[in-house]
Amino acid sequence: MDTVLDLNQVSKIYKSGDKSLTVLDNINFSVEAGATVSIVGPSGSGKTTLLGLCAGLDRSTSGTVALHGTTLNGLNEDQLAAVRNQYVGFIFQNFQLLPTLTALENVMVPLELRGERNVKPRALDLLDKVGLSARSHHYPTQLSGGEQQRVSLARAFSNQPRILFADEPTGNLDAETSEKVVKLLFDLNKEAGTTLVVVTHDLELAAKTQRIIRIKGGKLV
Ligand code: ADP
Repeated sequence: MDTVLDLNQVSKIYKSGDKSLTVLDNINFSVEAGATVSIVGPSGSGKTTLLGLCAGLDRSTSGTVALHGTTLNGLNEDQLAAVRNQYVGFIFQNFQLLPTLTALENVMVPLELRGERNVKPRALDLLDKVGLSARSHHYPTQLSGGEQQRVSLARAFSNQPRILFADEPTGNLDAETSEKVVKLLFDLNKEAGTTLVVVTHDLELAAKTQRIIRIKGGKLV
């Protein structure tokens, strides 16, 4: 099996003035291609920080993070963005849709950033997949939380990521919508072999993943 994600002695220390806070302390783990993994732990234990490091959105203070065999630590911002565009999808806790763009345009952005042409039909397909064709011309403020989360899923799927990181994907959703979102995530894993790494408080969601990583006070337990 290929390793898609490999963390080696990863620490993250936030510094402000003369104070420093060790948020992640010497973390080691790796994830095989096609696996489903959840990261659980108390609030403030470093889960979101860990996910951001894994996805190349942030940098570790020490240790190495490798995605698909590429060590992220030595890369400049452009190289890091290129790795993210090539391999990574990310679903944020608060959706982070661009407010001035419609649902359709939000999904088109990553495709356009990849230099693809004629992206509209593909973006419409993706919205259809998450059951939102009828909302394609709505702006984020005109969509419910669940609909916004599904747009953010369509956007995260758009570059056909090898690995999808999701931060509390069901955190702001009612039970019925969260079931739909979870199904979309696991369908993607089954159909496309996309590796899933999910931070969650939702123990039902965690129980569906093949592996649960527990973190407490910045350490794996
Ligand atoms: P979790 O996702 O488990 O709730 P986080 O990774 O969001 O935990 O945060 C872990 C700790 O790091 C918290 O104490 C938080 O206040 C702190 N923290 C997170 N981001 C920053 C930052 N950019 N600067 C300083 N401290 C931060």
